[in-house]
Amino acid sequence: MRIVIFGPQGAGKGTQSALIAEKYGIPAISTGEIFRWAIKGRTALGTKVLEIVDSGRLVPDELTIEVVRERLEAEDAQEGFLLDGFPRNLHQAEALDEDILAEQGYKLDAALVIDVPEEVSLRRLLGRRACTKCGRNYHIDSPPKENWTCDVCGGEVVARQDDHDEATIRGRLDLYHEQTEPLKALYKDRGILREVDGIGSTDEVFARIVASL
Ligand code: ADP
Ligand code: ZN
Repeated sequence: MRIVIFGPQGAGKGTQSALIAEKYGIPAISTGEIFRWAIKGRTALGTKVLEIVDSGRLVPDELTIEVVRERLEAEDAQEGFLLDGFPRNLHQAEALDEDILAEQGYKLDAALVIDVPEEVSLRRLLGRRACTKCGRNYHIDSPPKENWTCDVCGGEVVARQDDHDEATIRGRLDLYHEQTEPLKALYKDRGILREVDGIGSTDEVFARIVASL
């Protein structure tokens, strides 16, 4: 199964992506995570994107497309994948279909959108915290059991750099509405759009996703 997932920040994409990946036995590939790991590891890519990612702007298309192309060539992505955070605009969507997938003889099976109203996403993002080691998400309303130490790996749990202030968060939401949301029409025309309501518990939303796929 070859899937892309999108939705406003704070819709719960990260959490749902992990569940989908596990159920369908495909890798969850997040461009945001690739960039954050590169920044943390101080790689050449990390140096290039550091300032852009921390300020909530978009990494240039050509660089992002190259990163995705390389990642999708890996062995573990040959039987399917879930792409989270890519494509983020029409140009990236076209590149995915025409330059990356068509070359390998594949096409997308589904484009999954998780929708939540703007107030909900803002509230979720402002309270969001993540493990610096394994990336697991938490929230100030559902923190780790002990002292901001990750339940899974013991890593330190903190707010993401680009989640610190409301202006940066609003900027990312604006970008989503301007550039990413129009992808719905594209995928709807192709008959592969699956829209899911993101309000409810993790299990409820996941059940909707499975039903829609
Ligand atoms: P969020 O959806 O909460 O903004 P992501 O983890 O998806 O978080 O992305 C974090 C950051 O990584 C973005 O704000 C942007 O700077 C960069 N990024 C991720 N995916 C893309 C993409 N497809 N194109 C350009 N920049 C991207
Ligand atoms: Zn952890």
